[in-house]
Amino acid sequence: MDHLKALIREVPDFPKPGINFFDITTLLKDATGLKAVLDALSAEYAGKGIDQVIGIEARGFFFAPAVAYAIGAGFVPVRKPKKLPSVVEFAEYELEYGTDRLEVHRDAVLPGQKVLIVDDVLATGGTAAAVAGLVERLGGTVAGLAFVIELDFLNGRQKLGQRPIQSLIHY
Ligand code: AMP
Repeated sequence: MDHLKALIREVPDFPKPGINFFDITTLLKDATGLKAVLDALSAEYAGKGIDQVIGIEARGFFFAPAVAYAIGAGFVPVRKPKKLPSVVEFAEYELEYGTDRLEVHRDAVLPGQKVLIVDDVLATGGTAAAVAGLVERLGGTVAGLAFVIELDFLNGRQKLGQRPIQSLIHY
C-alpha cells in the first residue's frame, strides 16, 4: 500500500511547531486511492463476524461507516464530550498537556459483541487504547483496530497489548 503515500500530504508544524501532520484529505478526494483504502480495510474483516465498527471523532468518521457498510456491520461513533444525547460511558486519557475525553452511548455496544475500531492515524496509541478500554468496559470484544497510517517510531501499538492491529501505511 506504500504507493498511497504519494496521495498523503505531509504538513510540517501543524497544528503546532514540531508536529508533522499527515493530511488524508488528499487521499480521500482521489477516487482510486479512497477505494483502495476502503477495500483493504474491509477485506481484512469481512466474514469475521464483526457486529459494530467504531469510528473515532473526527477523522475516524471518514472511514468507519464505509467499512461497516462493506462488511455488513453497524457503525458506532465515539465522540468528543457533550455531543451524544443519551447516557454515555467515557474514557479519559493523557495528552502532552492535560487530558482529553471521549464518549460512547452506553447502549451502542452490547455485551459479547465483536467490535472493530477505526481511525486515520495510530500515533502514540493513547486515543486508540482509551477507546479499546471503553469497548471492553461495555462488555464488547475488540476484534481488531484498523488504521490508515501508523507512525512506527512512536510505538503506539505497545499501548494496545495483544489486540489485533492492522495499518495500511507505515512511516
Ligand atoms: P494518538 O493518541 O497519539 O495515537 O493520536 C491519535 C489521534 O491523533 C488520531 O485520531 C489522529 O487523527 C491524530 N494524530 C496524531 N498524530 C497525528 C499526525 N502526525 N498527523 C495526523 N493526525 C495525527
